[in-house]
Amino acid sequence: MQFIDLAKQQSLIKDALDSRIQAVLAHGKYIMGPEIKEMEAQLAEYVGVKYCVSCSSGTDALLMPLLAWGIGPGDAVFTTPFTFIATAEVIQLLGATSVFVDIDPLSYNISPELLDAAIGKVVEEGKLSPKVIIPVDLFGLPADYAAIDLIAKKYDLKILEDSAQGFGGEINGKMACSFGDVASTSFFPAKPLGCYGDGGAIFTDDEELYEKLVSIRVHGKGGDKYDNIRIGINGRMDTLQAAIVLEKFTLFPEEVKLRNKVAEKYNSLLKGHVVIPKVPTGFTSVWAQYSILAEDAEARQALQTKLKDSGIPTAVYYPKPLHQQTAFAHLNYQDGDFPVSEEISQRIFSLPMHPYLEDADIEKICELING
Ligand SMILES: *Cc1c(COP(=O)(O)O)cnc(C)c1O
Repeated sequence: MQFIDLAKQQSLIKDALDSRIQAVLAHGKYIMGPEIKEMEAQLAEYVGVKYCVSCSSGTDALLMPLLAWGIGPGDAVFTTPFTFIATAEVIQLLGATSVFVDIDPLSYNISPELLDAAIGKVVEEGKLSPKVIIPVDLFGLPADYAAIDLIAKKYDLKILEDSAQGFGGEINGKMACSFGDVASTSFFPAKPLGCYGDGGAIFTDDEELYEKLVSIRVHGKGGDKYDNIRIGINGRMDTLQAAIVLEKFTLFPEEVKLRNKVAEKYNSLLKGHVVIPKVPTGFTSVWAQYSILAEDAEARQALQTKLKDSGIPTAVYYPKPLHQQTAFAHLNYQDGDFPVSEEISQRIFSLPMHPYLEDADIEKICELING
């Protein structure tokens, strides 16, 4: 059994994928070819925003808006410690300071109450200037934007939605990647909408920001690429990867439904045996991961071993919250600073999840967990 079965998906669109790839080889525009604009237009429409800027990865999709806003030394950027390193890495890369805020114990997303308190504290201390909030749509579930928006308004901060795992999720019909001032996603192969390499995209309704992002993507270009008006990066996505996303995107809306069916089946079989994921009313998850909680680290290890012995792969996202990572040691956080993230990281693990997971496989996995 596969943790994520990309071969099955490929078999459904193999011929169309091949012709898409052949079309790129035929026109030869490997950098910023026509598939880039075609993909950006389709994704912007799906998300319901004006602009989509494709880029080289989900990490650069986080970096580029922060660069555009001029985030740097002395600035505080608020985010969760229970995420992939990239979310906070980009803050440190720019010389700004990551201020971590613990998660909500049910959604595993940033806690709005604690966020408000953390910003208030930074304001009171007066050492850093609060600039940006980066909520993460963890495991495919959008963060609580209704509450986060109010906090951003109260302190006049920007919101950068890290939706690397969230593309395809919704809150009351409003799509993930449309929240906040700008949103980022990733097309890393294992994400809900992946390519066959690295890729990412940024979404916004802000025209001025859009223009800056387009410039930053190509070394801060001005009128043409040898007129440079700001410091940027080489942040382009390959035409071939856009061609692949375009073809995979034809399956995507149906895949979101299938992922939700898989999650419902897991939920119904696992309920009462382990802690299953909670999706708040009005929210739709795209189930980048289906993650459950064991009693403690030991029980988790026992369940993972039992599943592994039956050929079922599992994974732990994330075994160590960011404030406990060596890379962030200079921020001087202590064990115990974010008790919810610390406890969840000891108990959580993720089960195989992809749109084509068979009922029989789900039943086998759940029997082993429950038995
Ligand atoms: C995967 C991921 C990223 C980074 O995306 P890449 O395309 O691998 O650079 C950023 N944030 C989160 C939450 C992710 O899961």
